[in-house]
Amino acid sequence: MRVFLGGLVHETNSFSPLPTSLQSFREGVLIHGSEPGALQRLVEQPVFGGALQAAAQQGDFLLPGLFAQAEPSGPLPRADYESLRDELLADLRAALPVDAVLLALHGAMLAEGYPDCEGDLLQRVREVVGAQVPVGALLDLHCNLSPAMVDSGAVLIACKEYPHIDYAQRGIELHGVLSRIARGELALQARWQRVPMVGIFGTTQSPMREFVLRLHASEELAGIHTVSALHGFPWSDTAFTGAALLAYAQVGVVAGELVDQLAQAFYALRERASSPRMPMHEALDAALAAPPGLVVLADSADNPGGGAACDSTFLLRALLERGVRDAALGMIWDPQAVAIAASAGVGARLALRVGGKVGPMSGDPLDLEVEVLACRSDASQGGLVPGSRDPLGAAVALRVGGANGVDIVLNSIRQQVFSPDCFTEMGIDLTAKRLVVVKSTQHFRAGFDALAAATLFADSGGTLQVDLGQLPYRHLSRPIWPLDPSPMG
Ligand SMILES: [Zn+2]
Repeated sequence: MRVFLGGLVHETNSFSPLPTSLQSFREGVLIHGSEPGALQRLVEQPVFGGALQAAAQQGDFLLPGLFAQAEPSGPLPRADYESLRDELLADLRAALPVDAVLLALHGAMLAEGYPDCEGDLLQRVREVVGAQVPVGALLDLHCNLSPAMVDSGAVLIACKEYPHIDYAQRGIELHGVLSRIARGELALQARWQRVPMVGIFGTTQSPMREFVLRLHASEELAGIHTVSALHGFPWSDTAFTGAALLAYAQVGVVAGELVDQLAQAFYALRERASSPRMPMHEALDAALAAPPGLVVLADSADNPGGGAACDSTFLLRALLERGVRDAALGMIWDPQAVAIAASAGVGARLALRVGGKVGPMSGDPLDLEVEVLACRSDASQGGLVPGSRDPLGAAVALRVGGANGVDIVLNSIRQQVFSPDCFTEMGIDLTAKRLVVVKSTQHFRAGFDALAAATLFADSGGTLQVDLGQLPYRHLSRPIWPLDPSPMG
């Protein structure tokens, strides 16, 4: 099979203080299909892992196209989106004829004049390849599913897990479906339903754990091939924002009832499935009163993985004002402070202004007396996909308040905390800590749950604040929970 590969991945936060541009993709991942070594670089992208293993086993001939990914931030300028899109489409035209198109997308990407980038892209991909060639896309479950995406005729498969640890399996699945369609063994039709709710629904615990198992079980039903529950991305302000249920069934198999039942079930668990967020000081009270063992406290509102600046100081200030001992906090995105501390060197004690630089949602900078514990020019942490590494750039570990005070990791590539090794590789021993604050919403759980005696979620204010009623939505379709009490009855 001649398989075209490409991707355009951005989770756009309409309310982010950080703009997005082509430079954001250069700082993330930008692979041009025509550059030497493009295929090798594509193969190394964690999102493609499973799909490309399956492709290799089948002896597919892979045709690389553009792959571009940037850390979540605000909407793209029109020209920047169009240039990425058109490059990918030109790569596809150059690769013709193809037997299948396999894309990695997010599902919540916005550009100026394009409230539905994935719908626009998939429709244009379909125009290029015609009606018969199977097109498939791997999606993040934080996708805001649109009619244009589904109507493109692409097979869309989202990860089922949050933390997103199952891309490998979903990739194998997508490759399998595309192969069977290409060989004429399978014809699928999509059935989907919007679920009028937005929220954050982790799948590591009940009731989402059971719901994910139910999704898997429904894929065993006769004629049902793949089922995705899209959670939606609440901070992307579009008419499509919200949850959805999507199933692909063999042509002729009626999937409407299944989709309706799963949509109702998803909606019914919305209150219980939302991770409990506590006001910041309440969360700190609870953390300090917890039984012995490491308490992991998520600073969800400043998660750069959802488009926040990652330099807010609200929680750090609260730790210092309360004189909390044996604590660690990471990571604050502050390249300037990293450079100053690194030039002072390990062991130096200095006055340093930390964080609070991007805007009002970051709080005020903190002027601290710090000791430099460690400096690295190319720090990294374990990524979500097992075996992958994510670069953190130049980074420093700082100590405030003496030996039993608060250790802080500052870095220079905006990145949420995925793995404890973003602390341990900077020499911070988490087993000796009472409390660790992580700037992440849910993905940290893949790496921290095994260490945590307790896990708490603080709402400290910031770009990803969970009080969605406070966001200045302009396009969101109403009614929708939790802004409206019972939109589904
Ligand atoms: Zn996601």
